[in-house]
Amino acid sequence: MTAKLIYRFAPGSADGDAGQKALLGGKGANLAEMANLGVPVPPGFTITTELCVEYFRAGGKLPSGLRSAVEENLAWLEAQTGKRFGGASQPLLVSVRSGARSSMPGMMDTILNLGLNDETVAALREQTKNPRFALDAYRRFLTMYGDVVLGVERTRFDGPMNEARRRAGAALGIPAPVDVDLLVKAIPDSMLRAEELEQVVTDFKAILVEHAGGFPSRPIEQLMGAIAAVFESWRNPRASFYRRMNGIPDEWGTAVNVQAMVFGNLGDTSATGVAFTRDPSTGERRFFGEWLPNAQGEDVVAGLRTPQHLAKATGDTGSSLEEANPAIYRQLYETQQKLERHFRDMQDLEFTVEDGQLFLLQTRNGKRSARAEVRIAVEMVREGLITRDEALLRVSADRVEELLFPSIDPKAGVVPATRGLPASPGAVTGYVSFSADDAERRAEAGEPVILVRIETSPEDLHGMKAARGILTARGGATSHAAVVARGMGRACVVGCSAISIDRELGILTIRDSDEAGAALIVNPTDLITIDGSSGAVYLGDVAKTEPELGGEFAELLGWADAKRRLRVRANADTPHDAKQARSLGAEGIGLCRTEHMFFDEERIEAVREMILAGDLEAREAALAKLLPFQTGDFVEIFRAMGGLPVTIRLLDPPLHEFLPALPEQMAGVARSLGVEVEAVARQVERLHEVNPMLGHRGCRLGVTFPEISAMQVRAILTAACTVAKEGVEVHPELMIPLAFGRPELDLMKTITEQVAEQVFSQAGIRVAYEFGTMIELPRAAVLADDLARTAEFFSFGTNDLTQTALGLSRDDAGKFLPEYVRRGILPRDPFVSLDQEGVGALVRMAVEKGRATRPDISLGICGEHGGDPASIDFFHRAGLAYVSCSPFRAPIARLAAAQAALRSPAGAG
Ligand code: PEP
Ligand code: MG
Repeated sequence: MTAKLIYRFAPGSADGDAGQKALLGGKGANLAEMANLGVPVPPGFTITTELCVEYFRAGGKLPSGLRSAVEENLAWLEAQTGKRFGGASQPLLVSVRSGARSSMPGMMDTILNLGLNDETVAALREQTKNPRFALDAYRRFLTMYGDVVLGVERTRFDGPMNEARRRAGAALGIPAPVDVDLLVKAIPDSMLRAEELEQVVTDFKAILVEHAGGFPSRPIEQLMGAIAAVFESWRNPRASFYRRMNGIPDEWGTAVNVQAMVFGNLGDTSATGVAFTRDPSTGERRFFGEWLPNAQGEDVVAGLRTPQHLAKATGDTGSSLEEANPAIYRQLYETQQKLERHFRDMQDLEFTVEDGQLFLLQTRNGKRSARAEVRIAVEMVREGLITRDEALLRVSADRVEELLFPSIDPKAGVVPATRGLPASPGAVTGYVSFSADDAERRAEAGEPVILVRIETSPEDLHGMKAARGILTARGGATSHAAVVARGMGRACVVGCSAISIDRELGILTIRDSDEAGAALIVNPTDLITIDGSSGAVYLGDVAKTEPELGGEFAELLGWADAKRRLRVRANADTPHDAKQARSLGAEGIGLCRTEHMFFDEERIEAVREMILAGDLEAREAALAKLLPFQTGDFVEIFRAMGGLPVTIRLLDPPLHEFLPALPEQMAGVARSLGVEVEAVARQVERLHEVNPMLGHRGCRLGVTFPEISAMQVRAILTAACTVAKEGVEVHPELMIPLAFGRPELDLMKTITEQVAEQVFSQAGIRVAYEFGTMIELPRAAVLADDLARTAEFFSFGTNDLTQTALGLSRDDAGKFLPEYVRRGILPRDPFVSLDQEGVGALVRMAVEKGRATRPDISLGICGEHGGDPASIDFFHRAGLAYVSCSPFRAPIARLAAAQAALRSPAGAG
C-alpha cells in the first residue's frame, strides 16, 4: 500500500486540495482546501475512496496494511493536538465521517467521540472538570457505535434515556408527561445531570453486551471497525436510493475522514452551528444560519432544540450569535466571505466553538432552491465573481421547472391555520399523510399528498419524493426536512410547532395560537395547503397563481438565448397554448396536434358523425361541419404566432379514441345522431383494435380516408390565406404522421397540392408552405434519404420512435420499466430521456440520409424529449435545428440548449 492512500490536513498545510474530490470525497477535499487557506479546521486525515473501492472488491475486507498506516497517521495527529489516542490523560477523540465525491447529505454514517472507553472517559472528566459533558459524550458515542458499527437499533437506547428524563424531571420537580414526544420536549437532553447520565451509560453498555456481545474498548479496534462501517454505509438502502435518484454511480465509493473532535458542548463558551453564505431559499446575499450554545452539531440538524439566528434579525433580543459573541461572529463572518470568494460559490458551513475557539468542520457548495440557484448565479456575475457562461452552466435546467411553481393567490384572502418556517418554496395542496410508506402508496394511486411528520429522517426519503409537499413540527431551516426538500424541489414548511400528530387516532391537530382556543382536527381524508415560501399552513385547498418569469431568471434566459444554436419551439394545439408558448419564449410551433381541436363538445359530435358515416357523401357532409371550426382555430394560431413557423400535423390517432366506450354514452351518441344504438355499438366494435398504437392511425387514416386529410389541408391553407391578407406573415408547415416510406408521402402530397391550388385560386392569394414528415418509425429513419425526396422537413416523433424502436408500448411500459431502470438495464425511462444509444442512432442516421438527398432539409424534434435537458444536449450534438416541447418547458429548453452549446461549441460529437 502506498502512503498516499491516506491524506493529512492541518491548518496551514494539507496533502490534498479541492481538486481531488474523486479521491478524497467532497468533504475531505474541501477540508484540505480550507486547511491550505489557513482556515481553522481541526486536524485530521482522509482515507481515500480508492480504498473503499478496494474494500468492496475484496468482499468487504479492509486491505492489509491499512491498520499500520492508520496508526502512523494517528501518531501524527497526536503530535498535532498534543493529545493521546486512548490516553489516560488528555485523551484524543476523533470523529469518523463519510464523504462521497458528490454530496449525499445524511445518507451515510458518522461516528463521533470515538476513542472513549471507561478509562478515557474518566480522563476526559478529569481534564474538563465537567463530568456531565464527559458522560454525555460517552453515551452519544455508545449509541452511534452501537447503531452504525454493531447494528444495534437506535430505538433500543430510547428506554434508558426516557427513564433518565423522568428521574431528572422528578429531581427538578417537573412533572413528566406520559407521551414520549412531549417528554422529550419537556425534559431535553441538556437537562440530564451527571447522575442520570452515569446510569444511562451503564444501561447502554448492558444493551451492547446483550445485543452485540459488547463493544471494543481499545480505541484502535473501535476506529478500524468504524472505518469499515462507514465504507459499508455507502451500500445502505437509503444511500443507494439517493444515488439512483441523483444519477451518482455505485462504483465511486466513499472516503472516510478521521478528524480530531472539537466540542461545542463544553459549556456556555462553546457552541455549534451551520451557516450559508447566502440565503439558500431565496438566494439573497446575506449571511444566514443557525446556532445553539452548548450543543453538538447533530442537535442543530435533528431539530430537537430550536436553534437561534447567527446574524441579528428583527425581534432577536440577545439570542443571535452576533449579539451573544460579537468577536466569534466577526471571525466567522470573515471566514465565510473568504470561503465564498475562494470557492466562487455559495457555501454551506458547519462550525463549532470550543471554549471560545472557532473551528470550521466543513464547507461545501450549498444546496439551494431553484429560485436561489438562479438568483445567486446571476448576482455572482454582477459581482464579477463568475462569468455568464459559468452562470449558465451552474443552473440545473432540470430544476428550473420549480420556478414555475404556483404561489398562494394574494386575492384568495384566506387566513392560515398556523405557521411554520418557510423551508422550500412553492404552494401545494394535498391530503395529509403521516408516514412515508402511506404517502408513497397514496401518491402512486394518484392522490396528491402532503407528508406530515414530527421531523423527517433519511428513512422518509421515498415518501418525501412521492409527496407534493412536506410539513414538520420540528426543526429549522437547516433540518433534514428542509435541506432534502429544497434539493428535491418539494415545497416544505418546517418547525410548525402548533401541530401534533396522534398516530393511534390517525389525526393531525393544529392548536390555536390562543392556548385556550380549540384545536383544529385534520383527518387523512382532509386537504391542507402549505406555502413553502411563507411558511403558512391552510386548511383545505387555496387559490394559487402562476409565477411570472421575471427578474434574474429573465436575465439568465436572455444570456441563454444569445448562446444557444438550437431554436426552441413549442407543442401547442390551441390559440391559448400558442400565446402562452410565445410568452415563454417559443420561436414557433413545432407540433400542433390537430386532433386536440376535435374534443370540444360542439365538435366531437361532428367528428363522431364523420366516423360513423356509412358512405363518402355522409362523411363529407360531416367534414363540412368541421371545416369552419378547424379554419377558425388555425386563423387564431397563425395570428398568435405572427410570422413564426407553425407545424401542423394532420390527424394521427386511431378513430376509436373519439368514440364512446360505455353503453349509456353510446345511447347518447345514437340519440344525437338519430341512429340506432346497435348501429353505434357495431361501428365501435368494428373500429376496436388490439394494438391501436400500431393500427389504423397516422397517415394510414389519410390513405383510407383522403377526404379527411383534404378537409384539414383546406382548413390550414384557408386560414393561412386569411391571415396573410391581414398583412401578417404566415409560415405553415404541413406534417404527415407515422409514414414508413415515400409512397405514403407522395400520396398525401398529391392531395395537398390539389387542395392548395383550389384554396389559392378561391382566395386570390398564394402562401408559401412546406410539406414534411415526422420520423416516428425505424423504417422511416432507415429510408430517410428516399423520404427526403418528397419531404422538405423532418420532425422526429421520438415518442413513437422510442416505442417502435424498443418494441415498448407507450401505454403499457409503466408496469415494468421502473424495474428496468432499477436494475440498470436502461439508464433512465426512455420515454422521458432519449435512449441515445439506440433511438439516438436512428436519429443520427436519418439526419445524415436526409441531408444527403436534401442538404438544406429542416430538422427538428417534437417528442416529449424536446423538453428534457439530457436529450436536448444530444439533439444539439446531432445537429438538429430545433426542439419542440410543451410551452411550460420552453424556458428549460432554452437554458438546456445554451448549456449544450457551451459544452459542445462545434455542435457535433
Ligand atoms: C411522437 O410520437 O413523438 C409525437 C410527437 O407524436 P405523438 O406523441 O402525438 O404520437
Ligand atoms: Mg407520434
